[in-house]
Order: sequence, then structure tokens, then C-alpha cells
Amino acid sequence: MNNNIFDNTQIAFKMKKNFHLYNAIFLFNIITRKMLVTIFTNLTLVMLKMNLPIKWVLKRTIYSHFCGGVDLDSCMEIISDMHSMNVHSILDYSVEGQKNEASFERSCKKKIEIINSVANNKAIPFAVFKPTSIGRYDLFKLVSSKKQLNDSQNHEWSNVVRRFHKICKHALKMNIKILIDAEEFEVQNAIDDLSIEMMLNYNVNDVIVYNTIQLYRWDRLDYLKKTLNKYKNSEFNFGFKLVRGAYMEKERLMAKKGHYKSPICSTKLITDNNFDNAVELMFDNLKKIDFFVATHNERSNYKVMQLMKESGIKKSSLKVWFGQLYGMSDNITFNLAKEGYNVAKILPFGPVENLVPYLIRRAQENSSFEGQSSRELNLLRKELIRRKA
Ligand SMILES: Cc1cc2nc3c(=O)[nH]c(=O)nc-3n(C[C@H](O)[C@H](O)[C@H](O)COP(=O)(O)OP(=O)(O)OC[C@H]3O[C@@H](n4cnc5c(N)ncnc54)[C@H](O)[C@@H]3O)c2cc1C
Repeated sequence: MNNNIFDNTQIAFKMKKNFHLYNAIFLFNIITRKMLVTIFTNLTLVMLKMNLPIKWVLKRTIYSHFCGGVDLDSCMEIISDMHSMNVHSILDYSVEGQKNEASFERSCKKKIEIINSVANNKAIPFAVFKPTSIGRYDLFKLVSSKKQLNDSQNHEWSNVVRRFHKICKHALKMNIKILIDAEEFEVQNAIDDLSIEMMLNYNVNDVIVYNTIQLYRWDRLDYLKKTLNKYKNSEFNFGFKLVRGAYMEKERLMAKKGHYKSPICSTKLITDNNFDNAVELMFDNLKKIDFFVATHNERSNYKVMQLMKESGIKKSSLKVWFGQLYGMSDNITFNLAKEGYNVAKILPFGPVENLVPYLIRRAQENSSFEGQSSRELNLLRKELIRRKA
């Protein structure tokens, strides 16, 4: 196995002009500094609240680096450029913090519209949705706690279940695979149960529905093993998306405030081992599982490549997908694609104000783990030097 494929910056940044690289260097220089990220976050939120013209600045800097555009049409050029390099797109229309039934219905309708518009487009084989964009966060929390629901909550929950079925059933009809995002620990039980219900219904002939497993949680490997065991004789197959997890700091804070044991592994090393073990579990059960490995960690990507080789799985096998977020780890995405693996980028799109929580998460994530951002910076600088030589 050639262990240096991710160092090729010429392939990684082929799509980017010099000014894109300078913009990215500027951004990563800011977001590697925790203090600047805190200032940026607070300032952005205050300015948006006061209706000050911050959207213009965001759109030309952080938004243009991490997002595709305000609507589907404005993403099309990026999608087709990426596809010309064998990289697929997963359109993610961001809406967060929805609170009422009308907005959940709108959100569900939008997912269906996206599935309709990407069906038959080879560049976009997946759709994605965040469960709490189609149901109330506190309701997911209540259902996750297994407490008894009253009549009105039962009615509300039946609407959430109906929306899950609507999206997944439609995905099956249009032959689009669907990734269900993982969220905070306190809402995840309900999401897991619903995801299994979707797989039971729609993963019978092919794997359409993928649930996300966050390996920064110390209980997830056990969950995976128990779930595999419980359904070992059933007709359907599993789809799993493996991630480390995006809410670490929030989860730790919530656990501290709520006086319960943090669901997050105590060290990064334990998370990494968990991730490795989950990857191995996927390969041990490949007859029953298709999986999507969603990580910017080079070692994890190499591990999957290595295991594919050892298990005799073709690089192009649709049982295994790799994925990164748009604006991050192009060195992994484009070099994997060049080698012939199946790889996709999540491409968030939508109005700037809708994407602010997503952008703040990206900034905070990059400031929390210096390794990730400084690696991005080194690669960007390396490519600029290469172009000047
Ligand atoms: C395509 C795609 C889809 C995604 N979908 C989701 C999703 O649905 N839900 C979701 O929650 N996240 C999602 N993520 C984000 C993901 O969970 C990670 O936050 C992000 O990818 C960083 O992890 P990594 O494996 O790329 O890299 P790494 O840099 O190797 O790992 C960083 C991660 O390790 C963990 N970590 C860091 N320090 C510690 C510590 N001290 N103790 C314990 N753990 C630690 C954290 O999870 C942190 O995010 C997605 C990411 C991608 C690329």
C-alpha cells in the first residue's frame, strides 16, 4: 500500500485557483486560533441579530470555502467540476433550530425536492438529513428517554415517524441512498430506533438507509455488536456511516451540568481505537453491511484502504464509500478518487444565515484540534510553493 497518496497537493487542489488557496490560508490562519474563533462567533451572531451587513463578508470568505451556494443551481458548477475528478457530491440543505410543525413539514418537503432533483444524476448518489430538522428536538429527547408520551406528544411523534418514512421511501423509489445524521447523545436513542425501522423497511434488496455511528461515544461499539446480533437472521442489510462525532465539547458540558457520566471517550486515543474497532467490525460483517467512512483522519482512511485490499474488495465496490466535508481534506478526497475509490463530499447549501451554525461548528472544530487545521495550512502552502516553482 502506497502510504503517501494524500501528500499529492497537485491533485488535491486542482479545482482551486490561486485566490481560492489564499482565501483558505487566510481562513485557516484565523480558525486555528481559539480566541479569534470565539470573537468571530460572538461578533457574527450579534451582527446578524442587529441586521448589520455581515452576510456579504461571510459569503465571500468562510461561506464560499465551506458551502456550495445559496440554491441548487449555484452548486451545479462545483458538483460537475468535482465529478469530472471522480468525486461525488451530497447536497445538504442546512436548516437548524426549527421549532414548529409547519417548518418541519417544509423541511421534509425540501428533502423530497432535493431527492427529485438529484435522481438520475450520477454525480449525486446520496441525500442526507438531520433528524431534528423534521421533528422537535425536545420530542426526540423525550422519546430517547423512553418516558411515556401523552396523547398530543404521541400524535406529534407519529408525524416525525411519517416524515422519516416519507423521505426514506422516496429515496428508495428514486434509487438515492440516504444518510441519517447523528446528533446529541440525549436525542440519539430515538434516531437509532427510527433508523433501524427504516432499514427494516427499505434496505431489503439494496442498502438505501445509512445510520450514523459516533465513535467518540464509548458505548457505540457495544451498540453495533448488539444490533448486528439482534438482526443477524433478518432479511434487511445495514447501512452505517462511521464518524468520530461533532459535539464533543457540548456533550461534556451537558453531562457536567446534568450530573451524568459523559458519553464521550475520555481521550482521543480511546476514540481512535473505537473508530478502528468499528471499521474492523464492518469488514467482519461485510455480507450484511454497506458502510460510509466519514473522516478527515488520514490514518483511518489508510486503514480502510488496507482492509479493502486484504479482504479482496475492489476499490470501486459500492459497499464502501469514503467521505469528507466540502472545504476540508481535499488531499484525502481527490487522491482517493484518483485511485478509483468511491468518494463523496458533503456540500452544504442554502441562504447564508441558515448556514451560520454549520460554519461556527466548522470553525470551532478546526480550532479545537490544531492538527487538522495546521495540516490544511501546510498543504495549502505547499501547493502554492509548487505552483510558483
Ligand atoms: C462526511 C461527514 C459526515 C459527518 N456527519 C456527522 C454526523 O452525522 N454527526 C456527527 O456528530 N458528526 C459528523 N461528522 C463530523 C465528524 O464527527 C467529526 O467531527 C469530524 O469529521 C472530525 O473527526 P475526524 O475523524 O475527521 O478527524 P480527527 O481529527 O482524527 O478527530 C477529531 C475528532 O476526534 C474526537 N476527539 C478529539 N479529541 C478528543 C478527546 N480528547 N477525547 C475524545 N475524543 C476526541 C472528536 O470527535 C473530534 O471531532 C461528519 C464528518 C464527515 C466528514
